[in-house]
Amino acid sequence: MTKTDGMPRLKKVLKTSSLSIAFLSLLMLFGCPGSSNKPPQTNPSPTEPSGSKSDFDGDRAFSHVRKQVEFGPRPAGSAELEKARGYIIDQLKSYGLKIITDEFTATTPLGERKLVNVTAELPGESSDVIVVSSHYDTKYFTEFKFVGANDGGASTGALLELARVMAGKGKPRMTYWFAFFDGEEAFCKEWDDCHNPNPADPKNPLPDNLYGSRRYVAQLIAKNELKRVRAMILFDMMGSKTLRLGRDELSTRWLQDIVWQTGKQLGYDKQFVDAVEGVGDDDHSPFLKAGIDSLDLIQLSTYPEWHTKDDTLDKVSAKSLKTVGDAIVVSLPKIEDRILSRAK
Ligand SMILES: [Zn+2]
Repeated sequence: MTKTDGMPRLKKVLKTSSLSIAFLSLLMLFGCPGSSNKPPQTNPSPTEPSGSKSDFDGDRAFSHVRKQVEFGPRPAGSAELEKARGYIIDQLKSYGLKIITDEFTATTPLGERKLVNVTAELPGESSDVIVVSSHYDTKYFTEFKFVGANDGGASTGALLELARVMAGKGKPRMTYWFAFFDGEEAFCKEWDDCHNPNPADPKNPLPDNLYGSRRYVAQLIAKNELKRVRAMILFDMMGSKTLRLGRDELSTRWLQDIVWQTGKQLGYDKQFVDAVEGVGDDDHSPFLKAGIDSLDLIQLSTYPEWHTKDDTLDKVSAKSLKTVGDAIVVSLPKIEDRILSRAK
C-alpha cells in the first residue's frame, strides 16, 4: 500500500527504534540550542541584513501553540477541540480571510462523532489552488493527559501564522486554501488497530485515521474541484526545539526539493536534512491517491515524545516554527512559478 513495502506502517513502530536514539545523540552533540557551533541568530551577517528571512513571526506562531495546549487534550468530537476550533476561526477572520467550515458525521470505533474541517481562503489571480494544511485534533488517550504540543499544536500554530503572513502580502498569483483537518488521529491505540464499516463497499472497511483529510478530498471530488488543486503542503510535528526534518518517502519530489533547497539557502541546513524520514500514511495520503502533488513536513523518528504525555509546550520552540515558516514563505513563489509554467 505504501512505498515502505513489506514494512509495518512506521507511524506506529519508530518510537522505540534505536536509530532514533542514535539520531538524538547526534543532535545532542551537535545540534542543541545554545551550543557554541551555531551562529547566533541575532547577529546579522552581510547576506542577512535584517536578521529575519521572512515576515513569519515565530513568537506569534508559538503563542498559538500555547493557546492550543491550554485548551487541554483535543480529540476529535471533544468540547476542547470545539474551543480550539473557535480560536482558529477567530484568528483567521481577523486576517480578513473567508472561512469555510465543513461539518460531517464520522463513524469511529467509539461511535459516531461530529467532525469539522476548517478552510480559510485567500483568493489569488488564478483560481488554481495551493493547499497548506495541518491537523488540529490531538490523539485520544485515556491512560494519560496528552496535550499534543508538537503533534497537532505546532503545525496548527504555524499554519495560523502562515495564513496571517500570506494575507498581508496582497493578492497572490495563485489561490490559497489554509486547511485545518479534524480527526487525523486514530481513536484506537495504534494507527491500524481498528477499522470502520464501509456501507458502499463492505469488503473494504474504512481506516480509523485521516477522517478529515479523506473527507476533504471526497468533497473536492464531489464538487468537481479536484482539478483546481495543484499542490498540497502538510505541516505535522515540525516545531520541536531540536528540529530535524528528513525527507518523507511518500512526498512529491519536486515540491520537497524546492522546500529543502530553500531551507538550506536560508541557512537552515541542520534542520532540512537529506536523510529519509519513514512516515507512512499522513493527511497528504488521500491527496496523493487523488493525483495531487503533496509534501509532508514531519519529524517523527527523532521526536521521542511522540504520542506520550511528554509532548508538552517546553519541547516546542518559536525558533523552529520560524524555521519552517520562513522556508515555506520563501518557497511558495517558487512553487507557484513551477506550477504556472506548467499550466495547460
Ligand atoms: Zn499524532
